[in-house]
This record gives sequence, C-alpha cells and structure tokens, in this order.
Amino acid sequence: MRLIGGNWKLNPSTLPEAELLAESIRLPQEEVETVLFPPVAFLEELAKKSPKFRWGAQDFFHKDTGAFTGEISLPMLRSIGAAWVLTGHSDRRIKFSESDKTVSEKLRAALRENFSVILCVGELERGSEGALEESLKQSTKGVHHDELARLTICYEPVWAISTSPNAEADSPEHAEEIISRLKEIIPTRWIYGGSVTSANAAAFLSMPSIEGALVGGAALKGEEFSKILEIASQ
Ligand code: PEP
Repeated sequence: MRLIGGNWKLNPSTLPEAELLAESIRLPQEEVETVLFPPVAFLEELAKKSPKFRWGAQDFFHKDTGAFTGEISLPMLRSIGAAWVLTGHSDRRIKFSESDKTVSEKLRAALRENFSVILCVGELERGSEGALEESLKQSTKGVHHDELARLTICYEPVWAISTSPNAEADSPEHAEEIISRLKEIIPTRWIYGGSVTSANAAAFLSMPSIEGALVGGAALKGEEFSKILEIASQ
C-alpha cells in the first residue's frame, strides 16, 4: 500500500489550529496509509479526535527512563496514541547535529518497541549522492531483516526540501534512479520527499520504486494535502 506522510514540523502554534488542519484533510476512498506527524504537544488530542489517521512523532529519545531532561521516550509516545516515528530527518541531522550513529540508535529502539518508522536519508547538495550509501548503511546498522516490514525509508534530498534555499523538487527519474539503487541495500518500502505537491505527486508515484511520499509544506494546507492523498489512491 502507498504511504503518504505529513510532517508538520513546528507548525501550527495552537491546538485549535492543529485540530482545524486535521479536520480539513479528506481521506480518499481507496486505502492510502496516511500518517500525520504533528508537534508532539498536540499529538494526544489529535489522535483521540481523528483516529482515522495514523499518528506519529517527529522525534523521540532512544531510552525509556532516566536523567535525560527534556526528552520524550517511545513508551510515553505510545501512551498518547503514536504508533509511528520519524528519524533521520535532515532538520534533526543538520540543525540538531544528529549523526548516523544517533539515527541508528533511535531506529533500533523504535523497531524494538514495535513502532513503525520512516527513516530519512538524503544528500546535502545536488550531485553529492556519493555519501548516501554509507549514510544509509550506518543509519540502519543492526536492523534485522524481520523488522523491515515496519521500516519505510524516505529518500529526501536536502536541496529539494521546500525550506532549503533555491529548493526545487528532484526529477522523478533521478529519484527513481537513486531509490532503485539504494533499495538493493535495504529492500523495504521506499518513498520520496522534497517539495511534493499535488502538481508533481503523480509523476513521483508513477515511478516503479517509489511507493509514497513524505510531505512538509503542502501538508499544512488541508485541500492540497487531500489532493495528494487522492492522487496516491489512484
Ligand atoms: C520535509 O521536510 O520532510 C519535507 C518533505 O518538506 P517539503 O515537502 O516542504 O519539501
């Protein structure tokens, strides 16, 4: 089944706005796995009010308890309705200095705790895909074959993310080329992320190795996100 993730990042600012956004999203007739990643402060209320979506956390800590001020554990997230987590997003890697080692610790913990995971990998600059394979291998270190069913990997070139300077979406052909190569290393469901909109979603989803999308900016507009879900259902 195709997967469409909506990463709301640090938006919106209040619970009523978050509820309005969730309410404005229409699920298509045909099944599309739809996972929303709101700010964690709103997760519990949203998951209670809109159980038709799957809910996930944008970040978490890999240990369950202890002296880790400010952190949120996987059991805590489970207790407020999250069944999914994101890890390896470039915001975390770049702005919060998370290394492949940190990402792999988080990934293993989430899979061990029975969460479904979207792991993000992507090169910083256009044309610098050389380091991707190693980053993928390091980020997925220690993951067992039987855990792959709960692992979705998002190829998300950082230069294509809408908030990057001069961002533009990758070409579907280039994304397909990269994903089909990386899929040989980790054979699981692969999706694409980076400036996906209702105008380009069909082209990405028509590629044989691309089974969904992670959506940032366009996930903050109910109508636009609903259109992407509709396209994914076809
Ligand atoms: C993201 O940051 O995960 C993302 C996909 O962003 P956007 O769709 O805005 O490029």
